[in-house]
Amino acid sequence: MKHKNQVFDNVLDLVGKTPLIKLNKMTSQIKGNFYAKVEAFNPGHSSKDRIALYIIEQAEKQGILSPGDTIIETTSGNTGFSIAMVSIIKGYDCVLAVSSKSSADKIDMLKTMGAKVYVCPAHVSADDPRSYYQVAKRLHEEIKGSVYINQYFNQLNIDAHYHSTGPEIWNQTEGKITHLVACSGTGGTISGTAKYLKEKNPNIKVIGVDAFGSVIKKYHETREFDEEEIYPYRIEGLGKNLIPTATDFDVIDEFVKVTDEDSAHTARLIAKTEGLFVGYTSGAAMQAIKQLGEDGKFKKNDNIVVIFPDHGSRYMSKIYSDKWMSEQGFFDSINVEAAQSIEY
Ligand code: PMP
Repeated sequence: MKHKNQVFDNVLDLVGKTPLIKLNKMTSQIKGNFYAKVEAFNPGHSSKDRIALYIIEQAEKQGILSPGDTIIETTSGNTGFSIAMVSIIKGYDCVLAVSSKSSADKIDMLKTMGAKVYVCPAHVSADDPRSYYQVAKRLHEEIKGSVYINQYFNQLNIDAHYHSTGPEIWNQTEGKITHLVACSGTGGTISGTAKYLKEKNPNIKVIGVDAFGSVIKKYHETREFDEEEIYPYRIEGLGKNLIPTATDFDVIDEFVKVTDEDSAHTARLIAKTEGLFVGYTSGAAMQAIKQLGEDGKFKKNDNIVVIFPDHGSRYMSKIYSDKWMSEQGFFDSINVEAAQSIEY
């Protein structure tokens, strides 16, 4: 790895080491010092670069992978992009089983990054042989020398953040962090980062962000799977309708739920006030901070780190489209014409 004069061997040398950026205007009404860990600075524009690189390199170390082998995953989102990027550099085939709900843009992007994409019907159950879970499993069985990333059920997802995101935040705050706020999807980011930070200082409070329509918060509180919590929601990458083993519930102190609408407006506000063009879940995490701030959760000298998982460019046809926002009814509480030129 040659980093002299900002010259790198390849794009993978740029994974991780993302900046911590102070939030100045967004949080002016809330007590505490707020810093965003902006994961869009990864070369694949999201935190998923970390797990793709880590999991693939662990498989290499164990002698499971050799050049020409195949990496398989079920995702059309950030993880798919990151695996495709790592596969290009390291010489693997990347096979992604995605849902037919995935936008054409996303599928084209993955193909551009050299991935072989299997589009599977969205409205079949997870145990149907046509579902993307089953297609991925079958391909893994059929393709000799393949590795199935399986991010929701892979301990290495937690380990990746334990070895990178956690130490980075600890060093960047010089050990002064008091709170970590992070979205939970697979749970890998929050669990690995929290585990590292709590080993350094058990007093650090860890707050997970969950979506209305997801079972995660309730499970954390009761350790019971409550199907009644589940209903459709729009935020992608946050919350789940199952309990991932990549979430370590014991290192998380509490969960906060946020709505689709509040998270979308808050993401737009981050762009307008801080000049940071980040994704939907960054809006969700910031919305959770607003709610916690209103409840008087933070004190003047607290140092709160919030993770912004990805870049805004992946949401141009969603939260950054006025048309989409109107269609969702997210401008209903305000006059639509005024809303389209809204000054947050
Ligand atoms: N935000 C976005 C945009 C994501 O894609 C994900 C991953 N599903 C998350 C947040 C949550 O990260 P994790 O899976 O590590 O919990």
